Amino acid sequence: MASDITPLIAGNWKMNGLQAQMNEFQALGDKLATLENRNALVAICPPATLLAAMSEKGAVSGIATGGQDCHASPNGAHTGDISALMLKDAGAAYVIVGHSERRADHAETDAQVRAKAQAGIAAGLVPIICVGETRAEREAGKADAIVAGQLEGSVPDMASEAEIVIAYEPVWAIGTGLTPTNADIAQMHAGIRRLLVERFGARGQTIRILYGGSLKPANAKEILAVENVNGGLVGGASLLANDFFAIISAA
Ligand code: PGA
Repeated sequence: MASDITPLIAGNWKMNGLQAQMNEFQALGDKLATLENRNALVAICPPATLLAAMSEKGAVSGIATGGQDCHASPNGAHTGDISALMLKDAGAAYVIVGHSERRADHAETDAQVRAKAQAGIAAGLVPIICVGETRAEREAGKADAIVAGQLEGSVPDMASEAEIVIAYEPVWAIGTGLTPTNADIAQMHAGIRRLLVERFGARGQTIRILYGGSLKPANAKEILAVENVNGGLVGGASLLANDFFAIISAA
């Protein structure tokens, strides 16, 4: 982990979490209050139905919140969709865009992801832009090219004050218990860093690059210590206060 970048540990609850799950969120806040040195920024991206309540409680315990997706428009005739402005209005600081589940389930293209990231920035949110190769792409030796293409297509040009986060999430590692080797993570993150610096100059050195995909208490310490890994995007293990707390403590 680059020592001068404060890591971000972000939880992605996906389509999980009824009101009762707020107890687990409360438990996380209570545990964080006992941590003497918190080395990481902490965020949770709950389903939209819990966002406002979580943002209110999170403000007390220092847990930021985020949406899991947003529409590219600020408002309008888009039944069922949520705009970045609405997320911001509900208290969010972040928005995940281009998660592989949305790219797969909703056929989202790089251009759409880029527009969503832009909408997030315009609304005052920090977009967490997800990229990552499938197993077939990795086996075919195309992982680097796929991720480079996704970055090129999904990351918007930005005014100098805008902040973005990149999340490298190999699709085959999500929810499977499988992870790349530390060497493979280091190589991919170094490649992403190189592309960010090529495109954004010195500013590219400061952009957080999160690792995501089966990050859990047992592997968090070693993965979060890999060069250019500036935190994690955590799915399953973010639903349990004990597990998520252990990952935060490992950062
Ligand atoms: P996982 O999900 O930690 O359950 O593998 C990560 C993600 O999809 O963001």
